[in-house]
Amino acid sequence: MENTLLKVNRERLLETLKVSSSIGPSGNGGMNRLALSDADKNMRDIFVDWLKEAGLDVRIDDFGNIYGRRKGKRNDGPSVAIGSHLDTQPCGGKYDGILGVLSALEVIRVLNENDIETEYPVEVINFTNEEGARFSPPMLGSGGITGNFSKDFIYGIKDDEGISFEQALNEINYSGSIQNRITNVKNFIELHIEQGPILHEKDITIGIVQGIQGNDLYTVKVTGKTNHAGPTPMENRRDALVAASKMIVKVNEITDEVQGLKTTVGKVNVTPNVTNVIPGEVEFTIDIRHEDNDLRSHAFERLKEQLSAIALMSEVELTITTDWNSETTLFSSVVKDAIQEAADEFGYSKMDLFSGPGHDAKYMAGVSDTGMIFVPSVDGISHNEQELTIDDDIEKGANVLLHVVQKLAEAK
Ligand SMILES: [Zn+2]
Repeated sequence: MENTLLKVNRERLLETLKVSSSIGPSGNGGMNRLALSDADKNMRDIFVDWLKEAGLDVRIDDFGNIYGRRKGKRNDGPSVAIGSHLDTQPCGGKYDGILGVLSALEVIRVLNENDIETEYPVEVINFTNEEGARFSPPMLGSGGITGNFSKDFIYGIKDDEGISFEQALNEINYSGSIQNRITNVKNFIELHIEQGPILHEKDITIGIVQGIQGNDLYTVKVTGKTNHAGPTPMENRRDALVAASKMIVKVNEITDEVQGLKTTVGKVNVTPNVTNVIPGEVEFTIDIRHEDNDLRSHAFERLKEQLSAIALMSEVELTITTDWNSETTLFSSVVKDAIQEAADEFGYSKMDLFSGPGHDAKYMAGVSDTGMIFVPSVDGISHNEQELTIDDDIEKGANVLLHVVQKLAEAK
């Protein structure tokens, strides 16, 4: 089937994004629109108005996820869903998530004004609490409807003020019905900023996301002996911090052995953390990422051997606990092919890449053929008020999304 090479309305999309930027601004050019906050409610209200103006059938589910459905010829058939999230980090950017939701709306507007009928229904989605900044963990809206988290678990999560997810949802009046959850999904496509530097550095416009990198988190506890810094000779010490420091260097160096492996020690606690006392205990975290699950776990096994050797030499005890294991999510080749085809038709530069961060698409991949389109983040900056994606790339990303929807929903 030949698709018409329709394009989005650049000015309208940029204007829609601008309205979003004015709701919950952080004051430094970024955003502070935490999930289920007053700012989030204001944004949701306007978004719902926009969906209705576009003639969509609007539903809210019991996690506050918002759907706008455009009928298809086979209206009882599965839908092609597009969207992302409108919530932000407390000092977040104007594009993370927002681009995917508002571009999805723009796709609908273009289909409408061109009288395009699709075989399958198209649904725009705004997922609740993707960021996890107010209610942790992240991706609760998508995780809830796909059965990755139970409703009781999600409703019971509290923010720093002790307000539960359920309370917050009721307070902003976005607690809908369980019947409104999306269930019959053919495809889910999420347009998102890369949040990393690869596309920007390579000067490539479209990232065809292959999947979401697996990610394991560990806590390492090193126990030595606390003692006075004055009288204790160097050779008699069992300094937990010195041992932990050597280990942290190894965590970094293991990445030389496995291409594409990323490791981070982001958190260190020293006990007693006093100037003139030899540290008796150190805890640090290891975040380890690679798209190949086997390579990642083998690298960690090797790292464990190296850390044990350091512990032995330093006469300290070592305990490693697993906090989190998440396997790599692979995206659908049907969606990846459609993205590639769209980029080719428009003549946009493109490349395959993996996503480091998680996204709603990760959970949606469990229930439908899913994929993601990345556009460049200038200097790879995200979760930051300086986050920027240039207008040309916004337009091109949305054009690709439009084309992918036309193809997968079988536009005629
Ligand atoms: Zn996001």
